[in-house]
Amino acid sequence: MVMCVADILIRNGIVFTMDDDERIIKDGAVAIEDGRIVDVGETKDVVNKHSAEHVLDADKMAVLPGFVNVHTHIPTSFFRGLYSEHNLMFGIRDVYTDMGEKDVVDTLYKTSLVSCLELIRFGSTTIKDNYDLADSIAWAIRDTGLRGMISELVYDVDLARVPEEMYDLDPERGKKKLRRAIKLLEEWDGKGEGRINVVFSPLSPEKCTIGLLHEIQEVADRYGKIKTIHLASSEAEEREGRKMFNKSPVEHLYDIGFLGPQTLAAHCIYTNDIDTGLLAKSKTGIMHCPLSQLRTPRRIAPVMDWLRNGIPLGIGTDNIMHDMFTAIRLMLFIANHNLRSNPYNMSWSKYMPTPMEVLKIATRGGAELLKMDDEIGSIEVGKKADLITVNMRKPHLTPIINPAETLLWCAKGCDVETVIVDGKILKDKDGVKIVDEQKILSEGKEASDKLLGKFFELHPEKMKPHYIAREGLAFD
Ligand SMILES: [Zn+2]
Repeated sequence: MVMCVADILIRNGIVFTMDDDERIIKDGAVAIEDGRIVDVGETKDVVNKHSAEHVLDADKMAVLPGFVNVHTHIPTSFFRGLYSEHNLMFGIRDVYTDMGEKDVVDTLYKTSLVSCLELIRFGSTTIKDNYDLADSIAWAIRDTGLRGMISELVYDVDLARVPEEMYDLDPERGKKKLRRAIKLLEEWDGKGEGRINVVFSPLSPEKCTIGLLHEIQEVADRYGKIKTIHLASSEAEEREGRKMFNKSPVEHLYDIGFLGPQTLAAHCIYTNDIDTGLLAKSKTGIMHCPLSQLRTPRRIAPVMDWLRNGIPLGIGTDNIMHDMFTAIRLMLFIANHNLRSNPYNMSWSKYMPTPMEVLKIATRGGAELLKMDDEIGSIEVGKKADLITVNMRKPHLTPIINPAETLLWCAKGCDVETVIVDGKILKDKDGVKIVDEQKILSEGKEASDKLLGKFFELHPEKMKPHYIAREGLAFD
């Protein structure tokens, strides 16, 4: 037998293939060459066919496709620890206007890098990210080695005024943002050795005119790209939507023809049965973000309704923290809560996903949602080598009897040991490679201090006595 030389050989691991048969190989190996998976199977068979310069012994480790994290806002790491200050999320736009575009992009690049470190450390290998001035996101993805589907947020409204419940829709603002979104696509689509994919993201129905949504739809179709949108994520959004459209935001998007298989909607929690029916009928996908939804007193997502109606699902960490293990666990907590609450019926328990199915939603399901499943989402020959190992030699993961269930209920992001994207090792047991973690952390802190310093200068009433004084803030 001819021995092939691979770049990386992972051996002796518990390999979750996420293939059509949901095969788990108890003592499995994966060979990687030129960024792709060239072999997967029993260790004894794979090592007979492949040698490699870089051999990873994955004894007592799970080997999984990397998480496909379908909804994030990586520049907002500066927001960490200030989640109770909701208005900051929108109000920070005043700071951006003050600072000027170039300075903002550079600052948000540094805060994005901090999120990228966290995402890599916790095993997300692909993210779908959307924010203002998204060049910063593109730079961060390019430099850290992650895979990213990214987009510029497009809206007509003056976001800084939204906390005062002022919805000042100015089509000129929307046009300018859309031009920027197209420019992002022209400059960045396919860059980062093919790891960057640019799509379109109107912010949410009540923050965009119908004209803008139609225009985005046309542009996305022309470039052959999907669209994402925030939908019915808060009581305020739902209320404002009903006031504007005289119907629910979901009905509004359905009626103007915006929903469909090429559209992904984030959140969808302030919805009713009719809305869920329309999402299912139009084959719209949902980006479920349990972490951010449960951080504030909002409605509980109708996860069981989505599953029962066969709505395609992916899971995202949004902007609070980027641990997909916590996110998938919360999704199951929510599903259990759905089953126990009125008017949900226990006979729906047959739709409750198994631990393996939940892990699949967070990997292959996310890839399918983003239309990237021909390249990523499972450990199969020919696919891009985006995978992680999870070290299970730990008290909270012992014993390993049913590995899928152990991972689902007990694993944490920090159990992720090796992270490989596009065949490159981004992280090993010693930490993140390619970039200088300490430099990113100190520059990220400086960038956050700058943004928050300016925010508190504009809104001194928001400063709380228990905040730890930050260097360089004007009021120190
Ligand atoms: Zn979001």
